[in-house]
Amino acid sequence: MSIHTKTLPQLAAGLRAREFSAVELARHFLDRIAAHGPALNALVSVTADTALEQAAAADRTLAAGLGGPLTGIPLVHKDIFCTQGVRTTCGSRMLDNFVAPYDATVVAKLKGAGMVMLGKANMDEFAMGSSNETSFYGPVKNPWNPGLVPGGSSGGSAAVVAARLAPVATATDTGGSIRQPAALCGLTGLKPTYGRVSRYGMIAFASSLDQGGMMTASAEDAALVLQGMAGFDPRDSTSVERPVPDYAAALGQPLKGLTIGLLKEFFDKGLDPDMERSVREALAVYQQLGATLKEVSLPSIGLSVPAYYVVAPAECSSNLARFDGVRFGYRCKDPRDLMDLYKRSRGEGFGAEVKRRIMTGTYVLSAGYYDAYYLKAQQVRRLIANDFERAFGEVDVIMGPTTPTPAFGLGDKTSDPVTMYLNDIYTIGANLAGLPALSIPCGPVRQLPAGLQIIGRHFDEERLLNVAHVYQRETDWHTKVPAAYE
Ligand code: GLN
Repeated sequence: MSIHTKTLPQLAAGLRAREFSAVELARHFLDRIAAHGPALNALVSVTADTALEQAAAADRTLAAGLGGPLTGIPLVHKDIFCTQGVRTTCGSRMLDNFVAPYDATVVAKLKGAGMVMLGKANMDEFAMGSSNETSFYGPVKNPWNPGLVPGGSSGGSAAVVAARLAPVATATDTGGSIRQPAALCGLTGLKPTYGRVSRYGMIAFASSLDQGGMMTASAEDAALVLQGMAGFDPRDSTSVERPVPDYAAALGQPLKGLTIGLLKEFFDKGLDPDMERSVREALAVYQQLGATLKEVSLPSIGLSVPAYYVVAPAECSSNLARFDGVRFGYRCKDPRDLMDLYKRSRGEGFGAEVKRRIMTGTYVLSAGYYDAYYLKAQQVRRLIANDFERAFGEVDVIMGPTTPTPAFGLGDKTSDPVTMYLNDIYTIGANLAGLPALSIPCGPVRQLPAGLQIIGRHFDEERLLNVAHVYQRETDWHTKVPAAYE
């Protein structure tokens, strides 16, 4: 087995047994990044020097018999997480030259756990997109087929892990941006419960929906990374003060007695028939493992895309007001006066999708339309959350497809924003309700990865990870690597 296809526990064991050092491990992945990163356009920055320093520190910790399961494990951060002294672009020209003076809590925690940062992953501009085609740094390619999108907005993170350029990448999910690229690239991607992982230092898109998480090959790996990321942070006012369970210890519980809800509305006419077959095959595996399937209905879920595309732009228009050419990032050349400075800095610094969102958001928040759009969308959001709560009275988890189709061609949907937004149809509900959700690879669809989505009750990550892990013990879809990256 090559070093880059090892699981996190295997890497940790290899480090402890001195089969390889953390520096050798970092070098191995840095070499892979140098060989494959540019063609995939997966990274915005590579931080080889600091990586080798961090790896040397990890080696010293390990030599002293100290450290934990993440010590010396390399990772790439989505370029939405602020990293002290290393450029944080958020995929935007606006922040092309921005070097944060501090680390995001997620970055600090994983650094504290001994992880080694190799670089920063490309992403849709300000995390707005479903295909990773809105980045100022150009589109990311899907390692399974470079003519296809990797999914967005965490497409760089997905491409990095799918091509095994790093065993772990952090990501964020506002409306599906962890689960969707994980599905299109054949990975395990977890969006934790809203409030489980600190948003401090994670550049805000839509603050009531944004949540940090990760992409890994397996649920077992995800459990270890979540352990390092989760927890209360007084610097994030929506972070929840609640103990962090031992996620890895919860893995391996039998599924007998588990009731799986099948969302009637997710198996609709918009779902690719091959995708449906793949998901149903995965559900059959769960039945063999002792779980019971039960159909549930979320009557308001059909309104999730329109509600989201009011709430998210509204919050983004407010969050992105801070990028004014004065305090952060890009400033236009030779402004005539203050108005010209604002207008041209924002006009030149933001890309088309971000401007579309800011305009939509400003519109729905304006005095005359607030009640008709924003307030209505918030009411719909409550109805959707209530639907989920009712469903979780009857079932333990909800399963369905992560996306309607497998990866599509680069450029196929860029001219029609609404078609693009509809890719998020199965993922947005969990964000609106603040629920944890993950995507795991199930059987391929026309030779491409497909994702099974599992949604859980608030703070039920232990169960979600266990349910995913038990499936991964029975199947090997999560071990598949595109031929060019084996
Ligand atoms: N595709 C959705 C959007 O563009 C979700 C993005 C995300 O989760 N960051 O808003």
